[in-house]
Amino acid sequence: MLDGKIDIKKMIANQRQSMPFNDGDYEQDGVYYCGVCKTPKETMHETLGAIRQLCDCKKKREDERELTQKHTKFENRLAHFMEGLDHDPVSKEWNFTNDDSPQSIPSLRLKKYVDNWDKVVNNNIGLILEGDVGTGKTFYGHCVVNALLHKFIFAYVLNLPNFIIKLQGSGFEADKLIKKVQAFDLLVLDDFGATRTTDYAIECIYNIVDGRYRKRKPTIITTNLSLGDFMKKDVDITTRRIHDRIMEICVASIHVDASPRRVKKALEKKKMTNEILGI
Ligand SMILES: [Zn+2]
Repeated sequence: MLDGKIDIKKMIANQRQSMPFNDGDYEQDGVYYCGVCKTPKETMHETLGAIRQLCDCKKKREDERELTQKHTKFENRLAHFMEGLDHDPVSKEWNFTNDDSPQSIPSLRLKKYVDNWDKVVNNNIGLILEGDVGTGKTFYGHCVVNALLHKFIFAYVLNLPNFIIKLQGSGFEADKLIKKVQAFDLLVLDDFGATRTTDYAIECIYNIVDGRYRKRKPTIITTNLSLGDFMKKDVDITTRRIHDRIMEICVASIHVDASPRRVKKALEKKKMTNEILGI
């Protein structure tokens, strides 16, 4: 009869036969180590013998491979989400790391919005980004979307005036396009209020906003309108209906001011243009 010690030794020898050992791997105190990262490739158990484990460098490679696979899967699904919708490749560069005012209130609050995404989505928290033309509302909308895409969350900035034009030319595809934008986890409705208010445009905007409200999916609105404009009573009934819905889902508003650097840049550009044109 064999004693327990011999059994364990045999068991370990058998287990090691199927282990992926490489040149440079070495044994120390009865445990095999990776020759590259010098971390163990197995742990010893009193009765179970040598239990295989990933050394640090193998684990890192596996994690990277998994991340690449997850990324590819996400990109494929995103491409499906985006089918038929416009996408400006330049906007990929618009993210918080390129923000020239990273300590500004809009920047800090929107970063918190992204960081607390689980709470945002559970409570269906929408926002209004309001401010004058050229203050960076669209930029911040893209910052939020790009940060969420980085977290594998389906988000999209929809330029509302362009989308309305697209819908008008898309005939029976219009409903399909509206359903598409309703499906994103986060939708930024960019330039709300700049659209010429035809009955058709109002109906489309209402369908988008209301559909997302019903699906409990957060929406961010960027607009040149003030909060006072949203509260106005002396507007037509359909506009009133959209404004009421927006105020219901966008529970907070963030005022976006032109940053000093952005103003300086704009002035420099204006000066340069004047020089070129001899003004
Ligand atoms: Zn290793």
